[in-house]
Amino acid sequence: MEEIYLDANATTPVLPAARAAALAAMSEDFGNPSSVHSTGLKARAMMDAVRERARRVLNAPDGRLLFMSGATEGIQTAVLSALTALRGRLGVDYLLYGATEHKAVPEALKHWNALLGLQLQVLAIPVDAQGRHDLDWLREHAPRAGLVCTMAANNETGVVSDLDGIAAVLNACETRPFWMVDGVQALGKLPLQLRERGIDYAPFSGHKLYAPKGIGMLYVREGAPFTPLMAGGGQEGALRSGTENMSGIAALGAVLAALEEGQSFRDHAMLARFRDALAQALQEAFPGLVFNVPLALSLPTTLNFAVPGLSSRLLQDLFDAAEVRVSGGSACSAAKAQPSFVLQAMGLPDWQAAGAVRLSIGPAADANFIAEACARIRACGESLRQSCLSPAENLPLPDDGITRFAQDGACCYLIADREARACVLIDPLPEQVSRLAQRLRCQDFALRAVISSSGEPAHAEARELLAAELGLSLPAADARGWPLDTPVLALGQRRLERRGQSLLLDGQIAFGAAADPACGARFIAPAFDAEQQIVLGCAPATACDAGQLDGRALQDFVERQPEALLVDVREPYEQFLSRTPELAGARWEAVPLSRLLNALPAWLAQPRPLLFVCRSGNRSRQAALALARLGHAQSYTLAGGLALLPATAKTGSATSIDPAFHV
Ligand code: PLP
Repeated sequence: MEEIYLDANATTPVLPAARAAALAAMSEDFGNPSSVHSTGLKARAMMDAVRERARRVLNAPDGRLLFMSGATEGIQTAVLSALTALRGRLGVDYLLYGATEHKAVPEALKHWNALLGLQLQVLAIPVDAQGRHDLDWLREHAPRAGLVCTMAANNETGVVSDLDGIAAVLNACETRPFWMVDGVQALGKLPLQLRERGIDYAPFSGHKLYAPKGIGMLYVREGAPFTPLMAGGGQEGALRSGTENMSGIAALGAVLAALEEGQSFRDHAMLARFRDALAQALQEAFPGLVFNVPLALSLPTTLNFAVPGLSSRLLQDLFDAAEVRVSGGSACSAAKAQPSFVLQAMGLPDWQAAGAVRLSIGPAADANFIAEACARIRACGESLRQSCLSPAENLPLPDDGITRFAQDGACCYLIADREARACVLIDPLPEQVSRLAQRLRCQDFALRAVISSSGEPAHAEARELLAAELGLSLPAADARGWPLDTPVLALGQRRLERRGQSLLLDGQIAFGAAADPACGARFIAPAFDAEQQIVLGCAPATACDAGQLDGRALQDFVERQPEALLVDVREPYEQFLSRTPELAGARWEAVPLSRLLNALPAWLAQPRPLLFVCRSGNRSRQAALALARLGHAQSYTLAGGLALLPATAKTGSATSIDPAFHV
C-alpha cells in the first residue's frame, strides 16, 4: 500500500517537473553561470529567468532576490545584515522575534548579537491563545527595537500572522525597526505583499514547496542594508559567493513556473475544502479531538490537534501503521515527549502541548489523495475502537493474560483470566487511571484487587481513583491492596502470591520493586534465581546481546532457518491496520511488546530462533534483548524495523484496510 504523506510542512517530495529540470541542469545544461563561453551563458540565462519568475511570483519587481541554500541561510544573512547596520545606533535596545518563530530565528539573533558585540536584549513577542502576536506588547517595545522578526505562517500550527497589523505598529515608530518576515510556510499559499507592507527581509525555502533540499531564496528590500554572509568568488553580485546550486535553482524555477501557470497547485478555496474533509474525518475517528488553533486562522494546509487520553507518540505509531505519515507537534526524547514550545507559548494546557499531532498537506494534493487520507484516518479510529483505546465507542475486549501499561518509564500490569472473568492490577499510577478504567470497562471482568508491589503512595492513590471512577468497592485489603486473609490470589488457573518484596505469578513471573525499580516485571526461569531474572520493557537497554538482522537478509534468514518464528511486537492497534511482510516460508506470530510476558514460557521451554520486528527496531530490540538476557541463544531483532525494509521485501506487506472504511 502506498504511503500517504501528510507532513508537507516538514518537507515535500520533488515535483516531477522540478526533478526533470534539476536533472537537465546536471546533464545537458551543466554550465557554470560565471563562465563566459556559451555553456556558461546558457546556465546564466536559466538562472536569470528563474530569478525573474521568482520576482513575478513574489510580486517583488525591485529589491534583491538572492539564491541561497535554504531559509536558515536566508535568516542568517538577514540578521547579519540588519545587526551590522545597527552597530552604534542610538536608541536601540531590543531585537524582537515572535515567540512561535522557527528556532533558526532566535538562535541567529542570539548568535550574531553576541558575535558582533551588540549586547542588545533579545526578546520574544508573546502570542495569544490563537498563536497571534500580541500587538499591544509590540507597540510598547517596537520603538526601541532594531529588528523585528515575525513569520508569515507558523510551521507547527499553520497560524497566519496579522502582517498588516504588525506593519501598522512598525510604521508608527519614529525610527522604523528593520523587519524580517519568514515566508517559508507561506510561499505558494499566501500573497505576502512584500513591497506594500515594507518588509525588509523575507527568507524562503525550496524543499517546503516541491523543490529539493538545499535551495532557497532571500528577498531584500531596495535600500535595506546588506552584509554578505559569504565572501569569495563574487557570485550573486558579490552578495553571496560560491558557485550557484544550479540544479536546485532549475528545480525551484520549475516549481515557480507551476505556481505561475496555476495548474499543478490547488487554490485556497479548494485547499480549504480538503482541510474541512480531513478535519471531519479526524473528528469522526477520534471523538473528543480538539484542534489546537482555530482552523479559520490557519493555513488551509495545516491541522494541529490533540486527542484526550492519547499520546502524540501513540497517534504517530497508529498513523504510521496505516502508512500515513504525520508529525508530532512536539519533539520526543527517548523517555518522555517534550511539549511543543509553540503550543506552550500559546498557553495551551500541557496535555494539548505534549499530545499534539500535526497533519500538513502540500498545495499539489488532489481530491483522490485527500479521499484516501480520510479513509485511512477513519481506519485509524476503527483500530482504536477495536483495541479499547478510542476516546468513545469502544468495542468489548475480553482479554486474557498479562498486559503491561508503561508510563514514563514505570510499568503497571493487568493480569486477566477470561474464563474466570476476573482480573488484578499491579502498580497503577494516578496518570493511568482513565486509560485503565476504560480498559476495565471494555474487558468487563471483576477487579479482584489493585496491588502495589512496593507500597508506593502513588499506587494507593491510583487504587482510590480507579475505584471511584468505576464506582466499585474493592474487597477489604491491606495497605498495599492485597486482599485480607488471602494467602494466594486465584484467577481461574492462575495463582498470584507474595514472595519477599515481589509478587509472583504461577511461580514464574515476578512483579515489583525487588525486580526492578524502573520497570517491575521479571521472568523467572526455570526456578527463582536472581541471575536469570529479566527486566522487560521500559528500562533502557544497556547492552544488547541479541543478534541484529539486516532487512536485506530477511528472506535468506527465513530460508536458512525454517524453524524460526518471526514475531511482530507492534501493538494491536498497529497490527489491525497493517500486515506483516509476505515472506515465502515465514512463520509469523503477533505478540505485542505489552503482552510479551505471556509468550515467554513457551519460547523458553522450546527454544527456536526468534526474530522480532516492529516499526523502527526499538521495541523489537527490547524484546530480543529480553530473550537474550534470559539465556535464549537465538533471539534477533530486525535492525531499523519494517520502516527500513527494502521495497522488494515490502511489496507483500500491503497494509490491509478493510474496504468498509474507504469513503
Ligand atoms: N522557517 C520555517 C518556518 C521553517 O518551517 C523552516 C524549516 O523547517 C525553516 C525556517 C528552515 O528552513 P531550511 O530547512 O530551508 O533551512
